[in-house]
Amino acid sequence: MDIHLTTAQPTAEERAAVDRELGPPESGWEGAPRKIDVDGRIAAGGGNSRHRLLPVLHAIQSRAGWISPGALNYAALRLSVAPAEVHGVASFYGMFSLAPRPPVVAHVCDDIACLTRGADSLCRELETKLGPPGSACAGGRATWLRSPCLGLCERAPAVLTTVAGETPQERVLAPAAPDAVANLLREAAEGTLHGEPDILSPIPQAGQPQLRLLRRIGLVDTSSLDDYRRLGGYEALEKAFDLGPEGVIREVIESRLVGRGGAAFPTGKKWEAVHARRGTSYVVCNADESEPGTFKDHVVLEGDPFAVLEGMTIAALAVGAQRGYIYVRGEYPLAAKRLEQAILLARAQGFLGDDIRGRGLRFDIELRRGAGAYICGEETALFNSIEGYRGEPRNKPPFPTQEGLFRQPTVVNNVETLINIPEIILAGGAAYARVGTENSAGYQLFCLCGHVMRPGVYEIPFGATLRQTIELAGGLGGNGRLKAVLLGGAAGALVSPAELDTPLTFEGVRAIGATLGSGVVMPLDDSIDLKRILLRIAEFFRDESCGQCVPCRVGAVRQQESLARLVHGRPLASVAEEIRMLKEMGQAMRDASICGLGQTASSVLESALHRWNLFL
Ligand code: SF4
Repeated sequence: MDIHLTTAQPTAEERAAVDRELGPPESGWEGAPRKIDVDGRIAAGGGNSRHRLLPVLHAIQSRAGWISPGALNYAALRLSVAPAEVHGVASFYGMFSLAPRPPVVAHVCDDIACLTRGADSLCRELETKLGPPGSACAGGRATWLRSPCLGLCERAPAVLTTVAGETPQERVLAPAAPDAVANLLREAAEGTLHGEPDILSPIPQAGQPQLRLLRRIGLVDTSSLDDYRRLGGYEALEKAFDLGPEGVIREVIESRLVGRGGAAFPTGKKWEAVHARRGTSYVVCNADESEPGTFKDHVVLEGDPFAVLEGMTIAALAVGAQRGYIYVRGEYPLAAKRLEQAILLARAQGFLGDDIRGRGLRFDIELRRGAGAYICGEETALFNSIEGYRGEPRNKPPFPTQEGLFRQPTVVNNVETLINIPEIILAGGAAYARVGTENSAGYQLFCLCGHVMRPGVYEIPFGATLRQTIELAGGLGGNGRLKAVLLGGAAGALVSPAELDTPLTFEGVRAIGATLGSGVVMPLDDSIDLKRILLRIAEFFRDESCGQCVPCRVGAVRQQESLARLVHGRPLASVAEEIRMLKEMGQAMRDASICGLGQTASSVLESALHRWNLFL
């Protein structure tokens, strides 16, 4: 590769951050002092470390607080990737800054769940105390920014603070009050921020005997593999060894488990397809949940990380994969920490590695952190992100089971799907299939947030109605007068109080034109202006569109602009004409976008237009 570097040089600390991630450079071609006798005059190889790019960018950002041109150049040199390409990747992610920024940053969520619990007033008070978003405070060493959903909806309003430096820190404040945010920024800027115990989200159903997926959370010591085993952990893997790959796949198919990430594809069929292809393959855990209102993955990853590893190991046994990746969203520092620790322990005790439990299975797992791009939850965008490219979705086909990560057959399942696997293996596929309803088998995790009395993650066998699910969370919160429920997340639907007796099954919600999506159930009381919620969702899709295809890149922007005109009472021609245009744009995005983001970016808006006369 012919690399043309600008003259910008890395600082010593940036160079050290990259070298700590990659190890010291070995030749003059990748940044060491040039020795002609050793390095020769022609560069050979290079380019096969590109998949380290995202971790390298994280290392620079968390050391320096931003990614300078000199640091970009050094990353390009070390990885043999053209600087323009490195710039293209770094500029793709919301958590990276390519402009100088103070080392301490408070990311303040102003997305829909936090809006229901005071995010607006929190931001207003921060403006008064600290200045507008992006302005320097605390002696110029800190700032605050508005952020899309941080996945902490059960503890809204939420703030994630990142502190760059030799020992980077990340601190969650949720629920957050203005004074607490200001104090935290000041302490972090002065270097007096002390560690504190990790705060886990409460599990409202903790300890209840009927739980399966959540049964260990809150009870298990996540730093102890022995404790996981004491509570039944890894029994399913032992049984899976006895069943063998074909037996495992048979049980998963019989269970009728479908993916819980939103697409609801049969998991067993996916595994069968990869198993049939033989050769190199991968197992990928999609833990990049970024759908506003969704927070179940972080609860599971923080509370029962070994369950995810066990589910992945059984998947690897079934399909013949030797390597797995967990792609966890960048805004989940505690989940990443717990997973890292769990992987090390599993490796040390023979549950990952070259010969797992002496049963001849070779499988290991690598953790990758996202960096603030919702689209990376799309499976092919996630592959690109791991490989060191911009997280843009690929055209399908080929499907991941044919050509996935590193262009090899890949099983990609989300966190909730994977923690169902040990349950299926232990109970047997047929028994698992009897839980739930005819067309929706098993258990589902729901994210109850917004105006409910006890927000949190709830586990329910399929079949309960929307009303029963809200009652499980203590009933309506807020002012108690229900206006609407957001079902399935920002790509889901707003449904009305008249639809509360809808069963929360795939078939039940389909009948009312809605979707279970990522399991979001967010009741909104009548103090909430639905137009404001719609506008925030439209802004979210505008910002998160990767821009690769025209219908979504242009449509998401025009949709937000049109909606803003309606909300502010300034339609172009008439309200009816503006609404007609919105529906036409929605149709174009649905029909012609490459991926699910564009295809569903108008779903909530259209569901609201169908149910309420919001603009007349
Ligand atoms: Fe990117 Fe949107 Fe096209 Fe998906 S639909 S590929 S997010 S531009």
